[in-house]
Amino acid sequence: MSQTRYFSTRGGSETLSFDEAVLRGLAPNGGLYIPTEIPALPANWESEWEGLTFSELSHRILSLFVPEDSIPSADLKDIIDRSYATFRVPEVTPLRQTAEGEYVLELWHGPTWAFKDVALQFVGNVFAYLLGKRNDAGANEQLTVLGATSGDTGSAAIYGLRSKPAITIFILYPDGRISPIQQAQMATVEDANVYTVAVQGADFDKCQAIVKSCFSDASFNASHRLGAVNSINWARILAQIVYYFQAYFLLPKDKRDKVQFVVPTGNFGDILAGWYAKRLGLPCRQLVVATNENDILARFFSTGRYEREDSSAEVKATYSPAMDIALSSNFERLLWYLAHETQSAEQQAQGAEERRAAAQATLNGWMDELKRTGRVDMGAAVKEAAAREFWAERVSDEDTLAEIRKYAGAGTPYVVDPHTAVGLATQARSKPRAPDSTWVTLSTAHPAKFSEAVDLALTQAFPDFDFRRDVLPPALAALEQLPQRVYKVSGEDGVRALIEQVKRGEKPTPA
Ligand SMILES: *Cc1c(COP(=O)(O)O)cnc(C)c1O
Repeated sequence: MSQTRYFSTRGGSETLSFDEAVLRGLAPNGGLYIPTEIPALPANWESEWEGLTFSELSHRILSLFVPEDSIPSADLKDIIDRSYATFRVPEVTPLRQTAEGEYVLELWHGPTWAFKDVALQFVGNVFAYLLGKRNDAGANEQLTVLGATSGDTGSAAIYGLRSKPAITIFILYPDGRISPIQQAQMATVEDANVYTVAVQGADFDKCQAIVKSCFSDASFNASHRLGAVNSINWARILAQIVYYFQAYFLLPKDKRDKVQFVVPTGNFGDILAGWYAKRLGLPCRQLVVATNENDILARFFSTGRYEREDSSAEVKATYSPAMDIALSSNFERLLWYLAHETQSAEQQAQGAEERRAAAQATLNGWMDELKRTGRVDMGAAVKEAAAREFWAERVSDEDTLAEIRKYAGAGTPYVVDPHTAVGLATQARSKPRAPDSTWVTLSTAHPAKFSEAVDLALTQAFPDFDFRRDVLPPALAALEQLPQRVYKVSGEDGVRALIEQVKRGEKPTPA
């Protein structure tokens, strides 16, 4: 039975239960929660887990991290079953072969056609369960989840939290600046606890600034018990570990032991889950970080320096917007482990708690320097430790479109989304570095979610290409015919007024 507790990467000797780590998300000192130890797999995991369904596999793996007194085993199984019943295919995350020794792990068969569903379907049910447990014990906790989206990821949060008791969700988007399909995905959700909010005259950065400002207003934050379901939440990482094992079992036996996973990366949550899978004992070679032109991670893995490009142009808008990041939030978790593993012999001789504290101190130093100067050099030992498990490539917008064309023009045409294309371009470049490997590239979205890039890549090259006919699934097209409900507001005051109004029990009028 799991005894795992959680501590903050940035220090403090306090350890938390799974419940507390998940409901808090970010630690008060700005750190991220990680488990006190990485559990061991059962000795005979390979024979015992062969042939399990995705949900059964998930239950086995998550049980290693979730203690019975947080979520009893039968309840955890029920949460997992309900989370993956919403997926359209029995494998949940099926593996598609694209060439000899090359596979794509399709993570987008959930309700919003993007990989964030794998984590957020689970997280929504976990939040509802943990709040329910507290409220049954006499608490009266109501959570207000507030987030901003540039269009592509808001729907996964909404589908994760729709209809959940004790939770209300507000997702802000820039009015008129998201695609009709993206808007339809959010605005056609009818549940009473969902507020899809169009912020007039705003761009995505403005929406995000409003969210930040609400969170940092201590009294507003406390009176509404604001929560986030962002990618640093431990429960999200946990849910994502499962599909790396699933991929292993879906591969032919002679291909399993030499896998290179290639992961389109932004906030480092997806690939970090792969790293935990490897540390748990999943046999695989390395993890390959695929970045777009926002390449701070690719630069780290080649130089050992983590540095912002420059302070003026923070983030470049690319064709793979879900990977447009200035700093990669979950990377901090890996950095803590790197700090821990590169300690001096003297430090390594210390007890577990002293070593943990020393790694926290090192990480704090790095984060302070990054904040102060925009760059930090972690040195040769850290760079080498990282290089044992990872490498990285940067893929330009131009190469992203070329990769979409390449797969669409293959013998068996396969239309991929621009994020997946960044992964596949990385795979193609990486092959000479590790001949004789099995390549598994993670596909993070259905191409219909990113019509602009897909259209741009294919319309000229294939004159009879038709997005609606060739790419758009009928189920997504049908959403456009359904009634929509959107709340239009202007500025931060408008957002706050809407949240207040809902809290008072009034029913605001949609646009
Ligand atoms: C979020 C997202 C990514 C990046 O995943 P991280 O866990 O942030 O690295 C890649 N592709 C798509 C489509 C996404 O939505």
